[in-house]
Amino acid sequence: MRIEILCTGDELLTGLTLDSNGAFLQTCLLERLGLRVSRSTVVGDERGELVGALREAAARAQVLVVSGGLGPTADDLTVACAAQAAGLPLAYSADIFQSIEARAQRLGFRLTEAAKKQAWIPQGARYVLNRVGSAPMVHLRMASCEVFLLPGVPREFRAFVEGALLGWLEECLLPSTPPLLPSPSPPAEGRMFRKLRRLQCMGLPESLIDEAMAPIAAAFPAVRVGFRVRFPAVEVKLLCEAGTVEALAQLEGGVVAAARKALGVAVFGEGEEGLGEGLVDLLLERGQTVGVAESCTGGQVAAELTARPGASRCMLGSAVAYTAKAKRLWVGLSEEALGVHGEVSAETTRLLAQGVRERLETDWGLAITGYAGGGRVASPPPPPEEQAGLFFIACMGPRGVLREARVFWPGARKEVQRMAAAQALNLLRLCLLEAGEG
Ligand code: AMP
Ligand code: MG
Repeated sequence: MRIEILCTGDELLTGLTLDSNGAFLQTCLLERLGLRVSRSTVVGDERGELVGALREAAARAQVLVVSGGLGPTADDLTVACAAQAAGLPLAYSADIFQSIEARAQRLGFRLTEAAKKQAWIPQGARYVLNRVGSAPMVHLRMASCEVFLLPGVPREFRAFVEGALLGWLEECLLPSTPPLLPSPSPPAEGRMFRKLRRLQCMGLPESLIDEAMAPIAAAFPAVRVGFRVRFPAVEVKLLCEAGTVEALAQLEGGVVAAARKALGVAVFGEGEEGLGEGLVDLLLERGQTVGVAESCTGGQVAAELTARPGASRCMLGSAVAYTAKAKRLWVGLSEEALGVHGEVSAETTRLLAQGVRERLETDWGLAITGYAGGGRVASPPPPPEEQAGLFFIACMGPRGVLREARVFWPGARKEVQRMAAAQALNLLRLCLLEAGEG
């Protein structure tokens, strides 16, 4: 079944709004029904463009989902354009009008003349009333394509996708289903089952990940292997396809196991899981605790480590020791040590890790210092050991285990901070894995 998406709205072509509706629908179709979208088009609020795009997509696809342009304002043209493209007149629905009127009354506003146009839909079309907003979802046939018109407001769009559209599409996939509307039905096709698995990696650049995955891509031709930078992590995408549910489960299990083996400790999680979440799980599994002292990351390490409920049982606290004063008063560094080693150095970072571990009496102490940069260009430029993007990480463990890293990753201030926090969390993760279960 060929599915296309058509998103409408000038805001999508001016960069003011990102097409999150398209992304949401693509994910739902893939993850819940194993369906892949063949094409997604964006057009502005312009009659000629919209009618043309509707005709073209409907000529190619069996299912076309349209987002936006169903509202009451002058730039909402989708229903009229769909009627034009399908060669159908508009017909008035008293039922839709009542629902729109009742909503206006409930919310205490006057229904404008323009808003009443939402009660006109292409003749013979079906509709589902809107429980979150006003415009209904409209379903019509154009050539041999089932066309669904959904409002663009994301929470309304999502409500219709989850409340009606996915159910209808699922029925379409059953071979015995009669057509949704009378007359020509979409051509039946053998069903494919798909599942997208996403492995999150840290510590290996994309090129090395690609190299490690090459033999796996060759060994599993039914899996489409892809890569995506999800800064600061890299994601390996495994789109698995099979003719039966059982074959899919087997394929998925096999390829994920092979990929995890090839990528080793670089894989820190699956799907949406972040570094902090996996770390909380690791710490809780082992009944261990961590304390953090961070400066250049301004609390981002702590924010990550508190992403999972229950984190308070393993993440005891973080000192955002941004200044020398805080490093002294909160983490116990001596004035002499700071004088000798400075605020940003491997030695100071090690002392911070030690200090926070002792003060909070945790199993692990994690510390980071560095130069996030982004200020005015200094003149003369700072010496190489003080350059923006340089940071030091130290991790002290239960057996005095120590792992340190010196990282130089220059970039925009926000990116440096995110990268630095991720590197710190990753170092703690590697320490925990290395220390093993006990
Ligand atoms: P509309 O149904 O065209 O009146 O859209 C209403 C609002 O929904 C727009 O003003 C946008 O803010 C938002 N919107 C429309 N299309 C999308 C889309 N594809 N993704 C995310 N938001 C959207
Ligand atoms: Mg619009």
